[in-house]
Amino acid sequence: MKVFKFGGASVKDAAAVENVARILKLYPKQDMVVVISAMAKTTNALEEVLALYRRGDSGLAAMVDEIRAFHEAILVELAIPGDEVRVIVQQLFEELQSRLEREPSDNPDFDYDQIVSYGELLSTVIVSAYLRACGVAAHWVDARRLVRTDNRYREARVNWSKTTELVNSSWTALLEGRKGKGPVVMLTQGFIGHTDEYVTSTLGREGSDFTAAILAYALGAESVSIWKDVPGVLNADPKYFKDAVLLKRISYREAIELAYYGASVIHPKTIKPLQNKGIVLYVRSFLEPQSEGTTIESSTFSDSLVPSFIFKVKQVLISFTPRDFSFVAEDNLSELFRIFAERQIKIHLMQNSAINFSICVDYDDQKLNAVLNDCKVRYEVLYNAPCELVTIRHYDQDTISRLLIGKKVLVEQKSRSTARMVLVEQA
Ligand code: ASP
Ligand code: MG
Repeated sequence: MKVFKFGGASVKDAAAVENVARILKLYPKQDMVVVISAMAKTTNALEEVLALYRRGDSGLAAMVDEIRAFHEAILVELAIPGDEVRVIVQQLFEELQSRLEREPSDNPDFDYDQIVSYGELLSTVIVSAYLRACGVAAHWVDARRLVRTDNRYREARVNWSKTTELVNSSWTALLEGRKGKGPVVMLTQGFIGHTDEYVTSTLGREGSDFTAAILAYALGAESVSIWKDVPGVLNADPKYFKDAVLLKRISYREAIELAYYGASVIHPKTIKPLQNKGIVLYVRSFLEPQSEGTTIESSTFSDSLVPSFIFKVKQVLISFTPRDFSFVAEDNLSELFRIFAERQIKIHLMQNSAINFSICVDYDDQKLNAVLNDCKVRYEVLYNAPCELVTIRHYDQDTISRLLIGKKVLVEQKSRSTARMVLVEQA
């Protein structure tokens, strides 16, 4: 069996949903699990709902109405016969509404999961009904009966053994029910799961890729295909790089490195479960379903054929020098790291010398000021912003030189395979 994952962009409107049906119809005999995210920017909209709800803001109703209108418009366009799907969508909005009429809890992350999970519930209900109307026998399954997690809401951790058990029993039941009636298509939500107490949890933003990997791992799938609006994994973001080329084959190792450095095409957690079971990952274009896209598997043979570029823009380089001229060593580093952890600062690159410690992080005015304030007594703190962080995998001097035209290098780090640089525009 295969696992397919369709993200928000692949179900962003009625035409996109129709396209998903066309793709599935290319595999008429295939048993599969189909994982679907919330439609278009629904997750962002629901995050907005959460914020308004927790603030008690009067704009809440209008925001919910907007999300409802968006989904209803898609339903109208898809023109699915019968009333069933409209009734279910209606019920989901009623549930959400009654949740929003309760007092917020004292855990914002708990509230987040209870509210934001509706994006995936809505999208999967709509897509599965449409698929059935087109003759694809899709069975809607609630991921809150499949993916078991702990209760670290918003970033829940998977209970792999319990999840494997739940996924397999659900899959076996479907197989039995379909005996002699054609292939099984299990359709479920990405991103969401449930705790031991059957409370809804979520796996972190963009977590649907990870869901696809979890289900593939649990079922020992032959492959996972992530359908995207790009031709596959490219060697650079075409937004910043007009000559981006497709990486046809890369290893798990390369994919995880690219994801780690910030290539946004695959969620970083996706690779490990697939690598552990040798499950091939395809990243393919839903706009050109006949094209092969990128194959990610164990062989490292093609990894170094083309240099890959990962750009992080809107960065700030912050440097700390102990005022008493003491060395940068374990004691002051642990103090600095405690502050970064408390301020939820994610370090993208760091470097030290005798009396200087520098980090490159996302540029956020508020966080920067907080850190400057926390550290100013013991450290002289300087910063450079905005700058950009460039990572080049499989670099050569020629590509680096081309990249540096008009730029000044603030930090440079090189290993055998990877060069990383913090750059500013030359004055
Ligand atoms: N809908 C969720 C998000 O936008 C999960 C996903 O799309 O992967 O983060
Ligand atoms: Mg999404």
